[in-house]
Amino acid sequence: MSTTLFARLERTSGEIAVLGLARSGVAVAKLLLRAGHVVYASDGGSSPQVLENAAQLRALGADVQTGAHDLVRIGRAAIVVASPGVPPSAPPCVAARAHHVPVVGEMEVALDAMPSLRYIAITGTNGKTTTTALIGHILRACTDIVDAGNIGTALAEFALREPQPSWAALECSSFQLHDTPGIKPTVGVVTNLSPDHLDRYDSIDAYYGDKAHLFANATEQSCWVLNGDDDEVLRLHERLGRGSVLPGTVRTFRIGTESDAWYDRESGIMYLCGTPLMRRDEFPLVGDHNVANALAAALAVVTAVPFDDAVSTTVAAQDAKHKHGWIADRLRSFHALPHRLEPVPTADGRLWLNDSKATNVSSTLVAVQSMTRPFVLLLGGRHKGEPYTALAHDFSLHGKRVIAYGEAAGQIVEDLSPLVAVERVDGSFADVIAHARAATIEGDAILLSPACSSFDMFRNYEERGTVFRDLARGVAS
Ligand code: ADP
Repeated sequence: MSTTLFARLERTSGEIAVLGLARSGVAVAKLLLRAGHVVYASDGGSSPQVLENAAQLRALGADVQTGAHDLVRIGRAAIVVASPGVPPSAPPCVAARAHHVPVVGEMEVALDAMPSLRYIAITGTNGKTTTTALIGHILRACTDIVDAGNIGTALAEFALREPQPSWAALECSSFQLHDTPGIKPTVGVVTNLSPDHLDRYDSIDAYYGDKAHLFANATEQSCWVLNGDDDEVLRLHERLGRGSVLPGTVRTFRIGTESDAWYDRESGIMYLCGTPLMRRDEFPLVGDHNVANALAAALAVVTAVPFDDAVSTTVAAQDAKHKHGWIADRLRSFHALPHRLEPVPTADGRLWLNDSKATNVSSTLVAVQSMTRPFVLLLGGRHKGEPYTALAHDFSLHGKRVIAYGEAAGQIVEDLSPLVAVERVDGSFADVIAHARAATIEGDAILLSPACSSFDMFRNYEERGTVFRDLARGVAS
């Protein structure tokens, strides 16, 4: 637990510096003030929202600075709490580290303020948000679970609630895990691992190393739900055992091979703990990767909430004779999340798929593998360092043409044009869509699954997906 860090804090009773005054920074500052700590909060910006948040915290007794950070003061703090948006390379974090001031994230403080919280922590390269949402959706049938962390709402915001939730599905990015030394989940889930964020990490090992923080406080009581088809995930877990086995119970999910939770392709049945869970075609999401997410979620739920658990007054117990029936019911009623292989209804006879959240090659690869009809792939944006060649083989099965756009267009042409048909479009995103429309006929699909970040043309992937939807429907130009 975070006791060492916070025990030290109790003794020094020094000032705590909170970096960032967006929602999570405000929530964490409020938590600290409520616990009686002396708080200095700062934000490099001074937008109207930041100023309003600053005023709120001042009224509660914090010393607040906007438009700049006092690096000397931060260097003297007892502890620094960084908001998720503040990168480790930001000057205040650098100043803290230079003076050996511990830097933690908002999640660390929130967990410390919620000592009786039971939580399922989900990490991995892809599928975190979907798996987190699936777990939340399943467990809301019988608990007050909230979806927190990287999925949208900071855990600190839930920690301020009265009463606090008793369960959380907690999505953890590698950066959040790095800054949450006290993480000790009821169940920890790793969806998969592949190279990502090479623009922000020096090496793949450094990236995987941050993911490994999930296991930092493993005990015999720990439970881990791991992707049994992913050697990197299994290796990461083994490596941490350093020759001996990492404490805790390991359960695995797999596609096509028998396991604790698995999908039998031949019969089309998904299995959970040795019994049939449901037919695959009853689960509404497209692609084997989403079956893997559903299996991970179902396995995490049965591991976290055994059927003899205190949720006995719930759906689970009413349906106990069908054991997993309630989990299957919840999976049946789950809808695709926005920007993740999301179909866009249009009247032009084409299938438009918005997978704007695919910001690395491995997530685009699973989208390409899910395609069963002729399609055009929109690939591009800001390059993140990975080669695109891994897409060529599966693309060639049904793909008609790759449309390369944005800053990464040159790299995409270089990597893929020797292998598949590639058209480079240098204009606006509307031009890209016009070319895609022209390259397809009724019955074809147009897949936006860019394998790149969006920042060369958009504020974020949500904006890119929203513009794609509007252009597809013809309501924007
Ligand atoms: P994350 O939160 O890890 O970014 P999301 O659930 O938001 O994951 O999905 C991000 C992208 O990855 C989407 O394009 C989605 O289609 C794809 N994806 C989802 N689940 C998986 C998976 N298990 N393996 C690979 N890609 C996936």
